[in-house]
Amino acid sequence: MTADRVIARGTVARPDGAEPADVVIAGGRIVDIVEPGAGRGAEIIEARDLLVLPGGVDAHVHFLIGFMGQRSVYDFHSGTVAALRGGNTSVIDFALQRRGRSMMDGLKHRRVQADRHVACDYGLHLIATDVNATTLAEVPALVAAGAATFKVYTVYEKEQLKVEDGPLHDLMRALGKAGGTIGLHAENASLIDHAIARHLAAGETAPRFHASSRPALAETEAVSRGLLLAEDAGCPLHIFHLNSAPALALIEAAQARGQRASAETCIHYLALTAERYDGADGHLFVMSPPLRDPATQARMWDGVARGSLGAVTSDDASYSAEAKALGAASFDRIANGVPGVEARLPVMYTLGVEQGRLTLPQFVEAWSAGPARLFGLGAEKGRIVPGADADLVVIDPHARRRMAVDSHYGAIGYNPYEGMELAGWPVATLLRGEVVVRDGAFLGRAGQGRFLVRHGPPR
Ligand SMILES: [Zn+2]
Repeated sequence: MTADRVIARGTVARPDGAEPADVVIAGGRIVDIVEPGAGRGAEIIEARDLLVLPGGVDAHVHFLIGFMGQRSVYDFHSGTVAALRGGNTSVIDFALQRRGRSMMDGLKHRRVQADRHVACDYGLHLIATDVNATTLAEVPALVAAGAATFKVYTVYEKEQLKVEDGPLHDLMRALGKAGGTIGLHAENASLIDHAIARHLAAGETAPRFHASSRPALAETEAVSRGLLLAEDAGCPLHIFHLNSAPALALIEAAQARGQRASAETCIHYLALTAERYDGADGHLFVMSPPLRDPATQARMWDGVARGSLGAVTSDDASYSAEAKALGAASFDRIANGVPGVEARLPVMYTLGVEQGRLTLPQFVEAWSAGPARLFGLGAEKGRIVPGADADLVVIDPHARRRMAVDSHYGAIGYNPYEGMELAGWPVATLLRGEVVVRDGAFLGRAGQGRFLVRHGPPR
């Protein structure tokens, strides 16, 4: 058999370390890993002095989304192009069930929005907002259709997203039976709404009051409740965008006693702290949960290194600087979220590997292997091993570049990481063996991404 392509002489990140090797690709898959220079194929991609990583799996992105009256800059095409430029070959977005409607309709609708436009592979978490006897009956079919993870919001009643504890517990039982996983946006709604009202009544409207109205206690309480409900219901639990030390301790204790519990943190929590809210552009950093103090940040890195945080995601929500400024007069009206799908690699690589917080295998785990396993992407994704999809990113670990407003794709108008000197920029991204980005230029086509039918965790 003649191979299609060889990535030659790069340092290849393997599950257990890194070594110089040739990665041999045929039919969209990795077929062999051989001594440097020994690979033979129709095309040789020279990777001397470069690092070859598995393509990123960003398990938490929001493309083509509206929230708090604003729209994201990224749709499914531009968002997945940005993902590929940032070295990601798979993303997991969300399909929203609207209240009063079927969950399956939500999944179908989102696939119509995405399928013909996506440039990288993608999956969907199902956001449940209306849990009743009729919609619960849909759960096994949704899990079978590849939406094996659901997301529930414990906040945002005004936005018609919140699910109360009773129906949440029912949903967990149904998911547990069907072989799925429940994921939570875990914050205590009452504590937060009460604090917001108190701040607003006192005329405290600046962005820093966004952070003080959403304390670690609100997150910790909701994680604690989620763990109790999920354990009782016999359902694996995932916590999205975790950013508080006591909540992480609860996750770790649950894992230690054998409960099926996982959590992720996000790059913005690993790179930024709450002092950003005091700047003139503090509104740009409004997301939930909020940025916290340096001690919390160090604890999140510690969780990533230990593996108790099984993934680092971007939670990409690309509201433009203009859109975020519209709500700047009062912290409760600012569209929540920051872009990050394209920054995840250089931020994680530089602050993690280069600055000594993570070993290369720990980085690979949080970057791709961990999320691929947690979210049921199977053996095809997240690792450089023979038989896996040839989803690869070649990065330059030495070249440094300063992050600027326009470092990312699309007219977002700001960059949360502006000014940071970062290494680990992608040189080439390969999706199932094809070079789809080279030096930042997109070479692929809309619709080349596949929908990932994801399965629940093994039981
Ligand atoms: Zn999110």
